[in-house]
Formats: sequence, structure tokens, C-alpha cells
Amino acid sequence: MSGTLKLKYYPYTLELKHTFTVASNSRSSTPAVLTEIEYEGYTGYGEASMPPYLGERHESVAQFLAKVDFSGYKNVFDLETILADIDAIAPGNTAAKASIDIALHDLIGKIMNQPLYNILGLNNEKAQYTSFTIGMDTPAVIEEKVEEAAEYKILKIKLGRDNDREIIETIRSITNKPIIVDVNQGWNDRDLALDMAYWLKAKNVLLIEQPFSKDKPEDSAWLTKWSPLPIIADESVQRLDDVMKARDVFSGINIKLMKCTGLREAYKMIILAKTIGLKVMLGCMTETSCAISAASQLSPLADYVDLDGALLINNDVFEGTKIVDGRVTLSGLPGIGVRKI
Ligand code: MG
Repeated sequence: MSGTLKLKYYPYTLELKHTFTVASNSRSSTPAVLTEIEYEGYTGYGEASMPPYLGERHESVAQFLAKVDFSGYKNVFDLETILADIDAIAPGNTAAKASIDIALHDLIGKIMNQPLYNILGLNNEKAQYTSFTIGMDTPAVIEEKVEEAAEYKILKIKLGRDNDREIIETIRSITNKPIIVDVNQGWNDRDLALDMAYWLKAKNVLLIEQPFSKDKPEDSAWLTKWSPLPIIADESVQRLDDVMKARDVFSGINIKLMKCTGLREAYKMIILAKTIGLKVMLGCMTETSCAISAASQLSPLADYVDLDGALLINNDVFEGTKIVDGRVTLSGLPGIGVRKI
């Protein structure tokens, strides 16, 4: 192979269907950058999605991508080298890095004419049910959202303010579907958290995500030890280096492409997590079907899948992995499995 890799990128703004509220903030849009990498007539698509609390913006992603220089690479399949070099350009910038990683994986899949799950040796029929996220709101709006979510088999509910029990009771007055709760670091009392864990288990809750501040691993370790429900790290685990630190602190980790720089590192994190006995959740930000389809290629390896990001926006620009009757359904197209719409 002798062509050259050419990178293009465009700022984009994801419009959310509902204002999204978690323990610490609310928002109605998410900035994104869409990338394209061209090589000998093939185009790989990628995406950076930047929820503001992670610190990246349109400008920072553009500044990072402007520093990417593909001119020295002879072998487009050598992602281990290319992506290590991209990672070394600057610290942080994980979503910007993911936008390159996703586009390169899409590109090599298209050159090989195979979906990424085949290249990775994964069975796409092990597709799973995704949870569907319901942000914080008034009981009346929560009721409405739960009804809109009829198709989805697992609900993900944001907790961590002072009305956690009221929110769960509201949902339980409508449906007994299994629930995943995400506290987004909103709890700060061990004993109350353990009481809540028992109460939630009795309410058909499956797991608790990030109950305490990421700065309080000792509280998470204590709760993990005593809780009847699995405790899953999200904010506490960003990248591969964090996985070992989660051992004996959490029951599992939530891996997101935008936190960990993309598919290559996500795959390594999954393998390491499984090796040391941690459960794996595959999660997302609000994203187009580009990044969601990319993440879904790894979903046969996950214990829990939370890939609803493209369902939460109004202006998707890709078609790929779909959620059919609540199940993650891969397109079978080469690469990350998307086409532009
Ligand atoms: Mg979370």
C-alpha cells in the first residue's frame, strides 16, 4: 500500500431531544467534531463528542487535529504505531484522539471489506439489550419519558440528588423493567449508600454506577465490599492505566470511547478488566451513530451495554448500528458499519 492518509474534520453540534440533567449539570446540546480519513479511494469516518465537563471543545479538538501528521506512515494497518504517536502529540484530548482512532478502524475495515467485529473475531449475534437513559426531571416528565422508552428492556436512571427514592418510586409505579442507576458521584455517605443499595436491589435495580466522588476510592471500595449490587466505575476510570486501580475498588468499569481515546484502547481495557475479574460495561456520550456504531463492534465482549447516545439526539448524520426492540443490532457493513445520511 502506497497512498497517503488525508484527514478532514468539521465541527458539529448534537441537538438533544430532551434537556439532559445529571447530578452536577444540565444541557440541551453537545459539541462534536466529525472526522474523515481518506486513503486510496476509501473514506473512514470518525467522531469526537465533547460533553463540556470533560474539558474538550470544538476549538481544542481542531487545534489537536491540526497537529496530526500522517505523512510518515507506510503501513495503514499499523494502528499500534500510528495511534501511539497520535496519543503522544499532547496529554488529554481523549475525544479528539478517539475521532482519529474510530476513522482509522473504519478505514481498515473498508479496505479489508469486513466489519470490525469480524476482524476482531467477535460474534455479532451476541448482541445485547442496551439500557436507555432517563435524565433527572420532575415526576410528571419522568413518567412521560418512561412511556416513550417502551421499546427498551433496561432503563438507566440518573440519581444523586435528594429525591432518589421518589424517582425510583415514580418509575416503579409505571413499570417493573430492570434499572441501572447512575449516581454520577452524587452520594457522600457510606451508610446511606449501603441502605440505598439494599433498597434498590429490592426494586429490581441491576447495578450502581459511580456512587461516590472519583477522589474517594476508599468509599467506593467499602461499598463494593458490602453492597448486594455490583458497583461500576465511570468517572473513576478513564484509560487503560486506570483499570488496575479499579481492582478491589469496584465490581466493574464503564468503558467509553471518548474517555479512553477509542477502539484500540477500549479493546485492551476490556481484555485487562476481564482478566482481573472486573465486569465490563460499554457506555457512550451523546454521539451520532458513527461513534455508537464503532463502540457497538465491541459489544459482544461486554457484560452490560449502554449505547443509547444516538437515540437521544435529533440530528444524527449516520446510519449504522440500530436498536431493534431494545437490542443492539449491528449493520454488517465493513469497518464500523456506517453510511452517511
Ligand atoms: Mg456514568
